Amino acid sequence: MKSKLKLIDESGRRIDGRLLDELRPLRFEVGILKNADGSAYIEQGGNKIAVAVYGPREVHPRHQARPDRALLRTKYRMATFSVKDRKSPTPGRREIEISKVIREALEPALLLEKFPRTAIDVFIEVLQADGGTRCASISAAALALADAGIPMRDLVTAVAVGKVDGRIVLDLNHLEDQYGEGDMPVAMMPSLNAITLLQCDGTFTLEEFKEALELAKKGIGVIYEKQREALRSKYLDALKTYRVI
Ligand code: UDP
Repeated sequence: MKSKLKLIDESGRRIDGRLLDELRPLRFEVGILKNADGSAYIEQGGNKIAVAVYGPREVHPRHQARPDRALLRTKYRMATFSVKDRKSPTPGRREIEISKVIREALEPALLLEKFPRTAIDVFIEVLQADGGTRCASISAAALALADAGIPMRDLVTAVAVGKVDGRIVLDLNHLEDQYGEGDMPVAMMPSLNAITLLQCDGTFTLEEFKEALELAKKGIGVIYEKQREALRSKYLDALKTYRVI
């Protein structure tokens, strides 16, 4: 049962000192793993997540291959040490569901039809979890896919918004996720203004829902710029190394 923990103080500050519309500190890094075709890392508040992409490559088992497009497979996993209570190493229903949700959020952005009969595998390892890991995973996975050179319509960027002490807030941390009244993860292809994921846990009035969606879009705009910066900086570094610029 949810307790009466006070999550917003009289001055409008949240439990970690943020304002209602403030994101947690955010950092991306692209190309962190040399054995993967593409990779990325995200730190968002207390979340630390690494993503590796392999492919397009041969499909095993073969019968899963699609004649007209690549098969996108996503595996979201939380390390046993990623949360305070030890998490079971066996993937539970939550990890299976989140893997599916992440795949569905990424799929619309990928030109999978360019690679028939192949597979693209996305491995997501949550090293430390602090609320909103599915969204942070989506933002990092989009970068890893771009790093692998998979043609995309746009990046995918995600953030959770929610209702805490009756107020709509951006980018919930674990305590807000656990003790708040509602949680709404949103993913978008920002340049196309297209939503690829919208989940909702809790009760929102229509007005609250609209406010939450607007706030999510605002946060997504900021995260999108950081993603682009991270991609740009990897490739500028490479050009400098090879003295192209
Ligand atoms: N969590 C946990 N143990 C678990 C699963 C989740 O402590 O076995 C925490 C973790 O911090 C996670 C948060 O609960 O980020 C919220 O989990 P949820 O299922 O809502 O997914 P998320 O918000 O991470 O996408």
